[in-house]
Amino acid sequence: MAINTKGWFFATGGASHIVLATKNKGKLKEIAVLLRKRISELRPLSDFNSAEIEETGASYRENALIKARVAFQSSGWASLADDSGFEVAALGGQPGLNSARWAEKEDGKRDFAYAIARIEKELEKKVVIETDAKFVCALALVRCDGEERVVQGEVRGKVVFPPRGTNGFGYDPIFVAESEKITFAEMDPSAKERISHRAKAFKTLCDKCFTQ
Ligand code: IMP
Repeated sequence: MAINTKGWFFATGGASHIVLATKNKGKLKEIAVLLRKRISELRPLSDFNSAEIEETGASYRENALIKARVAFQSSGWASLADDSGFEVAALGGQPGLNSARWAEKEDGKRDFAYAIARIEKELEKKVVIETDAKFVCALALVRCDGEERVVQGEVRGKVVFPPRGTNGFGYDPIFVAESEKITFAEMDPSAKERISHRAKAFKTLCDKCFTQ
């Protein structure tokens, strides 16, 4: 069993298995990679509870904690949940907490090409276009003894049009991180995983938990 050497065993309160509260396949894939050497078993919340979780929090942190608590209560396992979003400065930080909702079409289905087109349309209404943008990720961990931790990571960069690249998910085709030339969707997934908002949140979580 490949239990971590960098704090995850401590971070989880002594658990080597974790339940992950996300249905987003892109995130699930990225988080599985980030945890692959640290955890012996990672299961999705849908294995324990298929009910929809209402994200009623006023921040990424609150939403992540709401999801992690449901996962802990449903499974009895240490649980992890993230809540993330894409913020465009010229749009006052939108879509932000509504990043997933911006992709919802009239039939209720999510389509990120549609969300990206919405951002482009909103930006076209601006006289001066400020291109600053960022991804934010809050990560909540409920340990197997019920203790809770929440951390946040972000990656700053620019919003670009037209969308470029086919890797990744969500808003990746229109985001170029600081000191990069290509979009997240053009990057090799392992390169994105080194600099992403999620990777930064994970690093903070590991660092914090290890020193406590
Ligand atoms: P939630 O955290 O599940 O509420 O989703 C937030 C939304 O933000 C997701 O559906 C994605 O579209 C978007 N998002 C979060 N992280 C990323 C990322 O790494 N790349 C692209 N889009 C992302």
